[in-house]
Amino acid sequence: MIEIAFLGTSASAPSIRRGLPAHVVMFEDRRFMVDCGEGTQRQLLRSGLGFRRLETILLTHAHLDHILGLAGFLSTVMRWEILPRVAIYGRRGAIERVKDLIYRVVLRGTRPSIEISFHAIEPGVLFEDEKFRVSAFPVTHRGGDSLGYLFQEKPRRPFLVEKAEALGIPPGPERRRLVQGHPVTLPDGRVVTPEEVLGPPVEGASLALVGDAGRVDDLVEAVRGVGALVIEATYLEPDRDLARRHDHLTAAEAAWLARAAGVRHLILTHLSRRYREREIRQEAQALFPHVWVARDFDRYRILKDGRLEVERAEAYEIEEERDVLAESERAGAGHSGL
Ligand SMILES: [Zn+2]
Ligand SMILES: [Zn+2]
Repeated sequence: MIEIAFLGTSASAPSIRRGLPAHVVMFEDRRFMVDCGEGTQRQLLRSGLGFRRLETILLTHAHLDHILGLAGFLSTVMRWEILPRVAIYGRRGAIERVKDLIYRVVLRGTRPSIEISFHAIEPGVLFEDEKFRVSAFPVTHRGGDSLGYLFQEKPRRPFLVEKAEALGIPPGPERRRLVQGHPVTLPDGRVVTPEEVLGPPVEGASLALVGDAGRVDDLVEAVRGVGALVIEATYLEPDRDLARRHDHLTAAEAAWLARAAGVRHLILTHLSRRYREREIRQEAQALFPHVWVARDFDRYRILKDGRLEVERAEAYEIEEERDVLAESERAGAGHSGL
């Protein structure tokens, strides 16, 4: 099971109900924070997740709505020494900008009180163990240098208890060795191989997370067949020309990708105040049935059989949000990112 918590679901600037992009992805006791928009540390507290084990931060790209929260997050973590270390990963452009923010603005020549490391990465596998893999894939978005992340629980062969019973294998270390793929010799001298007691491989849970993107045709292979695809939907089709101009997607384009790649569930985020949640969902659902429009503090658990368990944040009427910033967007400021 892989779980994702949404800490910020707004595009470009926060709204009354939505913070700037940040997600926490959890697998067993591992946690990864993906992006860290302004205000993320308060969202972490409000979500109940807190700062524990947030030692790995993955950045999708260098735009300010995705990285500015690192200054506040790291200064708090350093002041209280909440974490022993923080490692930040992203493509070179994102890492360079974040280094400027941390070294030139936050630290200004002082030594950090915890270990902070920066890792300029390219697409490929980032972390891997016997159960889990995290990899990065290229995403096309303004400024280049963007990454999406794929979280995969590895396929597992289930242990067939009935077969083990029938073969007379006692519960305990022999069964554990078989699960690990080793043959065992029973007290009566018989040798049992894993093949005899393990079922066919069962696909693990998987989650693909795309930050901002300007096109989807080059993402089909990277996200093929995942249990859940999280991706931006900054615009709707009537504003497709704005989407192209600012290198963002419409909800319909995100849904096209979900359908073309055969994913199980589509979760839309990076939303504009100019639309209502219902409009975004409807546009996507015309192409792909299993659509969620994320809200701050939503949690989604992706299970190995492709099912999704959803813990929705409190419902609210997004349409009530009509503020000054929204007015200026309608006047044409758009989601240019910075
Ligand atoms: Zn953005
Ligand atoms: Zn961007």
